[in-house]
Parts: sequence; C-alpha cells; structure tokens
Amino acid sequence: MDFAQPDESAAAAESMRQFAETEILPVIKGYEERQEFPHPIIEKMGAAGFFGAAFPEELGGSDMGYLAVAAIAEEVSRMAPEFGYAMNMQAMTCPFTIYNWGNADQIRRFVPDLIAGRKIGMFALTEPGGGSDAAGSMKTTARLDGGVYRLNGSKQWITFADACDTGLLFAKTDPEAGHRGITAFIVEPKSHRGFTANPIEMSGLSKCLRSSAVFLDDFPVPVENRLGEEGGGFKIAMNALEWGRLTVSARLVGLAQRCLDEASRYATERVVGGQAIGRYQMVQHLIADMAVNVEAARLMTRRMAWTMDRGEASNRAASQAKYFAGIAAKHAAQSAAEIFAGYALADEYPISKMTAYVNMLCIGEGTPNVQRILIAEDALGYKDANRHPVRNPRAKG
Ligand SMILES: Cc1cc2nc3c(=O)[nH]c(=O)nc-3n(C[C@H](O)[C@H](O)[C@H](O)COP(=O)(O)OP(=O)(O)OC[C@H]3O[C@@H](n4cnc5c(N)ncnc54)[C@H](O)[C@@H]3O)c2cc1C
Repeated sequence: MDFAQPDESAAAAESMRQFAETEILPVIKGYEERQEFPHPIIEKMGAAGFFGAAFPEELGGSDMGYLAVAAIAEEVSRMAPEFGYAMNMQAMTCPFTIYNWGNADQIRRFVPDLIAGRKIGMFALTEPGGGSDAAGSMKTTARLDGGVYRLNGSKQWITFADACDTGLLFAKTDPEAGHRGITAFIVEPKSHRGFTANPIEMSGLSKCLRSSAVFLDDFPVPVENRLGEEGGGFKIAMNALEWGRLTVSARLVGLAQRCLDEASRYATERVVGGQAIGRYQMVQHLIADMAVNVEAARLMTRRMAWTMDRGEASNRAASQAKYFAGIAAKHAAQSAAEIFAGYALADEYPISKMTAYVNMLCIGEGTPNVQRILIAEDALGYKDANRHPVRNPRAKG
C-alpha cells in the first residue's frame, strides 16, 4: 500500500494555493460588498483546470483522477472556503452526474462549459419538507406537455441557483410512485421563464456565493434534457451524492487544517501569564487531538478517492469519510475557538467563518445522522453500503 500523494495532485493543490492568493483573496471583499456572483473568478478557475481533474481531455478535463479532485477541494477550502462550493457545482455533483448518466449529446452540450466555468452549475434536490428524506418529502412535479416537461414546486437551499446557467433538478413525474416516481432533468434557468431563485440570508457564510429558495412555475424543460429514464432520478441523485461526498469530505479536511494552522500560529504568538499559551499542557492537548483528527480525516478521504480511482464500490468509504471529516472539522473549529478565546469572535481572524462553513458542510451531502444510519446498517449486516452496481465512468476504460 502506498500512502504517498501522487506528484500531480500535490502540484494541483499547490497551484490552487497560488491561485487563491493571487486571484481570489485580493478581490473577494469587493464581490462580498456588492453581493455579486464572482463569475470571472469561477471562469479563471475553470481555465486553470481546477474543475476538470475527473474528466477526459476530449471534454476539456485533465484526466488526473479523484485523488487530484480531493487535493484541489481541500486546498481551496483551506484558503477560501466560499469557493469550495464550486468544486461541487462545477467539478463533481453537477457536471460529473451529467457525464456519468447523460447521453453523448447531453455530455457534449453541457459538460465542457461547466468544467470550464463558462456556465454555472447547480444541483437541486432538497425541498422545504426535509432534505434527509429527499424522496419522501419531494412535492415538485414534472408533467409532460408535448415536447416539454412543465415543472411546478419549490426547492430549498440550492447553491448557485441565483447564478445558474445549467443545473440538475429532480421532480416527480409520477407523484404516486414514491422514489420510483422521481426523474432527473438538466435545467437552463436563464433560457426560460418560470424559475425564481431567492437568496437565503445566512450568518457567517458568503453573500456572493450563496444558496437560494427556488420556485418553479410551469417552468419548461425540453424532453431531450431529461437525464436518464422517467422514474430513474432517485438512483441518479443517490449516486451523485456519493461523488459529492468526495469533495465535501475534502473541503471539511481543508477547513480542519486551516483551524489547526491558525490555532498553532496563535498559540505560539499569544503570551499570557509570562509565556506563549502553546507552552500550556491543556492547549497542547487540544493541538495534539486536532493534528491527529485532521490526519485521520485526510487519510479516510484519500482512501475514498483511491477506491474511486480504482473503480471499486466506494459508498461505504464515502459515508465513513464524510462522517469522520465532519467530526474532525467540528472538533478543530471548537478547539480553535477555545484557543483563540475572545479573539475567535473578532472578524480579523477567520475562526467564526471557518466554524460557519464546517457547520454547513456537516449538513450538506447527508447529515451526521444520515451517515450514521448508512454506516450502522452496513456494519450490522442489514444493508450492504456497497450493494449498488458501480457507476464510475473513469472505471470503464
Ligand atoms: C448552505 C447550504 C447549502 C446547501 N446546498 C444544497 C444544494 O445545492 N442542493 C441541494 O439539493 N441541497 C442543498 N442543501 C440542503 C442540504 O442537503 C440539507 O440541508 C440536508 O440534506 C438536511 O436537510 P434539512 O436541512 O431539511 O434537515 P432535515 O432533513 O429536516 O433534518 C433535521 C434533523 O433531523 C435528523 N433526521 C432526519 N431524518 C432522520 C432519521 N431518519 N433518523 C435520524 N435523524 C434524522 C437530521 O439528521 C437532522 O439532524 C444545502 C444546505 C445548506 C445549509
């Protein structure tokens, strides 16, 4: 077994760090103040290749693989967590699901623009009735009307919906058929009337890269934009979340690492009672636990990426990594807050911001309880977490 990070993913992470320093950090404040979606930055990220690691070169990707996806997601989240969302909407959950489930025409029409950052993506599954039971709470309907489906209903918490050009959206074509009545659609909100996105005010999170409540009023989707078969949407959504868990786990590791970096630096600089607080055993205890948790979460995330790169079933690894990365990141944020004490609340330090993103990412792509259910049912032998056939386009070759 080889634990070394491949040179190309280490290099991709290093260029992500440099990009964040030169292209994001100097300008992001202006976008926040204007509450303006930073499309030019997303497009530069696309041009630099940060979204294409899991895609073949003929679609504009670099074919580096999932370990590189994880390395890039970790680094962008450590440097500028608000841009971590883009790793889901421009690199994995949205375009990768089209690549994995779409026909040749859909892949050609939509994937290259998304991973180049020219078009903005979206993944609209959750509804106001509860995200943990996406199928049971889904009320949005899609009715076939000639050559188009008419979509009616609402979605909640949909990231990038207010800027989306090309997104995935799930609706019931047969409201009586439970999860077998769900169908996946590729939607183009800017091309048709009937799609409204109202950004949700959230404390601590970005005001320019944000999530919205979405309202659909007879919103048309051409038949050729249906992804997969009618009634096949639930399977597609669950598969998409598996890929999403890769980037979300890596993003949590990046946040945890940032909390550790900040807390370590502060502990060596802050002098209280005649010595740096890093000399106090109880502070060292916090730092030691943070360091071990971050490393363990990173190893679990890389193992998930590694199983994906090998084309193996990775649901178990994905749930375990996402669950533990959440624990590690919450612990790191809490410990950093303890070490910074009053200054954790000061805007000059990033601890409150990191904490807000940790809390958000623990919820997205399945709450801790949802992961616990998957992990426990697998461990108890009730439901094998890896029971579904592998659907991994990189494994085909
Ligand atoms: C900032 C942000 C961005 C998001 N972006 C997107 C997006 O782009 N696209 C998208 O589709 N969704 C998105 N989401 C939604 C996210 O996926 C949901 O918030 C998540 O799935 C949880 O759903 P919920 O908030 O409705 O909680 P609920 O489902 O209402 O759960 C509430 C609590 O009950 C627990 N619970 C629920 N059912 C069970 C059970 N059976 N057993 C034990 N405990 C249970 C949960 O674990 C949780 O603790 C986003 C959310 C946030 C906050």
